[in-house]
Amino acid sequence: MPQPKVEVADIFRRDGEAWRAANAGHVSPTQRRVMTAIEICRTAALGGHVERCEECAHTRIAYNSCRNRHCPKCQWSAAADWLEARKRSTSAIGVRRAKTALSSGCKSHPATAPAGSNRSSHGGNEVAEAFD
Ligand SMILES: [Zn+2]
Repeated sequence: MPQPKVEVADIFRRDGEAWRAANAGHVSPTQRRVMTAIEICRTAALGGHVERCEECAHTRIAYNSCRNRHCPKCQWSAAADWLEARKRSTSAIGVRRAKTALSSGCKSHPATAPAGSNRSSHGGNEVAEAFD
């Protein structure tokens, strides 16, 4: 998934302070903390760390994350992981449902063909492959 060209953090860093000043009294302390966390996420303000590959000893310096649950930068990878996991589990459910439907048959195409046979247009192998 490509990274967005403009991030929420960019907008907050550019206009956040002016927006907070213009909306003083309408922004809760929690909302201010979230905005600040997003503004300083993965910047020198939070410090950094060095990552080193155990195989080739390649090193990479990276800034620390804010880990705020409202931060799109921090939650983006968690959301991508969640989406990938749902895709895998949905795919597995699709295969199970297809096999269940085939074993019980349907009104116009009863499940009379042996498994793996191509006699029926609803052959088990054909449908199961469609969900893989
Ligand atoms: Zn963050």
